[in-house]
Amino acid sequence: MGKGKGSLITIFLVLSNLGACKSLGLQHIYTTEISATSSKLEIHVINVGQGDCFLIISPSGKRILIDAGNNGEGAGCVLPFLNDISITSLDYIVASHYHSDHIGGLDEVVNGLGGNAHIVFAAYDRGGSYNSKAYTDYIDAIGAKRATLSADQTIKFDDGVIIECIASNGSIHDGQIYSGVDENTLSVVLVLKYHTFEMYFGGDSNSIIEPYLAPYAGDVDVYKVSHHGSATSSSQQLLDILKPEISVIPVGDGNTYGHPDSGTVSRLVYMNSYIYQTETGSASPPSEKGEVANGNFKIVTDGYSYTISGASLTPMTRLTDSRAPEGGIISMNNMICRGFWWGRIPFAIRTAIDFRFDFFPNYPLEVLKDN
Ligand SMILES: [Zn+2]
Repeated sequence: MGKGKGSLITIFLVLSNLGACKSLGLQHIYTTEISATSSKLEIHVINVGQGDCFLIISPSGKRILIDAGNNGEGAGCVLPFLNDISITSLDYIVASHYHSDHIGGLDEVVNGLGGNAHIVFAAYDRGGSYNSKAYTDYIDAIGAKRATLSADQTIKFDDGVIIECIASNGSIHDGQIYSGVDENTLSVVLVLKYHTFEMYFGGDSNSIIEPYLAPYAGDVDVYKVSHHGSATSSSQQLLDILKPEISVIPVGDGNTYGHPDSGTVSRLVYMNSYIYQTETGSASPPSEKGEVANGNFKIVTDGYSYTISGASLTPMTRLTDSRAPEGGIISMNNMICRGFWWGRIPFAIRTAIDFRFDFFPNYPLEVLKDN
């Protein structure tokens, strides 16, 4: 349909629905929709300072731990977190790569839980070996539960929840693309999928490999920013494919690496990706463009919308981007929504479009996208 005609029809429908949105109460409509599916996937971003640590809990309670921060963070931070929520075993562990800010705490977690018998299925990594004490401690702790994750492998984590490995040890699905020894470039890269929700975990991978990864990653909702927001990661080539509505930067105050790089933060802001950092580090997003949690936070999703919350964060709920192109904000701070634009369309009108989808589902979709 012609652009002009589509736009006119869209505006007419939007304006005719705005009144209905107000009187019926959008909050109630969306709350009902979200709670209709009670099964929630949780992604906990555990603040380990300068390092990575994520705990994913499936709707039926299966758990996967991706990295556990530096030496000392496993015992000092991750284990207490697991204890607080009564987790005594992990279904899977994934080590993104062998730098100590990722695997340093894994042995402390495994040993603290009582040994590798508390890893139900497997501890996945890129294979090969590495020369460091953190690595040998990690290998000793996981023992026979160690398994190599290959680039074409899918972890069937739980019903409806899959984790695709799209890079490992320098390989992607099409074969080896990097044969050097830079540990960051060898990172395991994962895409988590639950219904229409998608999140990318790239470890500390970088612009050497990102162009090859991007086509396999596709458009995601949440981007775990690679390598703590370093200047050499999050290339525009990757971001143009990922189009992340949300970016999560695990980073530590006082780090000497300049993480996150202010240019990387600017690229994410330019992509209109709302940023959540665990700590401030070397840069933080401008106000209205992101927040610093100064602690743990979590993403909870039913697969169609997702909510990000933490002790010092403004809770935000958004539709997945396949549900609303570029992600529609449903609520933020009890519906006190900040200015947010879809192209040049204010958020309130975008919300009306989603409302209209629900009640007039047979109207041609392309008309509404033709803006
Ligand atoms: Zn790192």
